[in-house]
Amino acid sequence: MFNTTITNKFKDLETPFYYYDMGVLRQTLEACTNASAKYGFHVHYAMKANFNPKVLDMIQSFGVGADCVSGNEVKAAIEHGFDKGKVVFAGVGKSDKEINFALDADIFCFNVESVQELHIINDLAKAKNKKANVAIRINPNVDAHTHHFITTGLDENKFGVNIWQLPDVANALRECTSLQFLGIHFHIGSQITDMEVYKSLCTRINEMQDWFEDHGFPVKVLNTGGGLGVDYHNPDTNGMADFESYFEVFKNFLNVKPGQEVHFELGRAMVAQSGSLISRVLYVKNGQKKNFLILDAGMTELIRPMLYQAYHDIENLSRESGQSIKYDVVGPICESTDCFRKDVDLPESFRGDLIAIRTAGAYAEVMASGYNLRDKVQSVYSA
Ligand SMILES: *Cc1c(COP(=O)(O)O)cnc(C)c1O
Repeated sequence: MFNTTITNKFKDLETPFYYYDMGVLRQTLEACTNASAKYGFHVHYAMKANFNPKVLDMIQSFGVGADCVSGNEVKAAIEHGFDKGKVVFAGVGKSDKEINFALDADIFCFNVESVQELHIINDLAKAKNKKANVAIRINPNVDAHTHHFITTGLDENKFGVNIWQLPDVANALRECTSLQFLGIHFHIGSQITDMEVYKSLCTRINEMQDWFEDHGFPVKVLNTGGGLGVDYHNPDTNGMADFESYFEVFKNFLNVKPGQEVHFELGRAMVAQSGSLISRVLYVKNGQKKNFLILDAGMTELIRPMLYQAYHDIENLSRESGQSIKYDVVGPICESTDCFRKDVDLPESFRGDLIAIRTAGAYAEVMASGYNLRDKVQSVYSA
């Protein structure tokens, strides 16, 4: 992916930095929107994966909606030109301030995560003489078969309402006259590559929509959430999420009734492969048992490996060949967990070498922190 023209350009830049390949981003968005358009599906981009302004502008230009998990994300989505009529707002802990902001913004739908939250949104909407559109986020108890730190759809997770609480939801919806029930919402986890998981989700969604219809609540919106995974091991040979298979599963297994809309909230799959974290080797420590490459980037720029043991491909851009050595690739932060990966096979590496940590377009820049009073790093974009 990195030809010599690009790596030559990198040589003159201050590291670390995020590099966004806008061509890859554009191709990914094209693939995603073409695959979903085949079935008339509605796609929302999950803002939390990456809210870099240039990235947002590109995504917005494809006409997708926005999936937000905070009031500020709702604000950013609208400021970047996302249609407010395509903004959905989820989150287990929406504050009154955030709810009021979203009510004033006339967003498409609140994805509501508890009975108590239904009452609060109802009260706040009533005070404004408004009706709030709501979908109920249901915890379907479907195992996403992903890392347990990023699964969200099991009974033990904090998200959504559990199936046994649905009678209470129905009662609340009948009482809350300032709410308009739109439909049901799900999001079972992230980095899901096994399509069987989505088949199981479809079965659950079909059961749940029947439950609501049987209890007198017509379901207009089926929101299946996001979570489609990417290939962190092969960013060059398999650089595109499998949008075709993904949407096809829902086309084949979801029971969509006339007039119903099917919505998706994709984050990672849209942006992950377009980004890399570019860093320099500061020091090489050769020990008796271990060799360390100490980079100028750390958990403050990319925390996924430290937070949920995530795998990222690591490449030395300055050496094409050389004796292969195993390194623990670590950052400069004063935490033992500040390690990108252990025993990485790389050509013998030296101070000043440029290192690329690939597939860093999702949940990287957005999670950057100033721990150790680190500088905020720049972003660089391909044309
Ligand atoms: C994070 C999130 C998403 C997007 O998840 P990805 O794994 O990045 O696709 C979608 N919906 C909700 C409610 C989320 O919290």
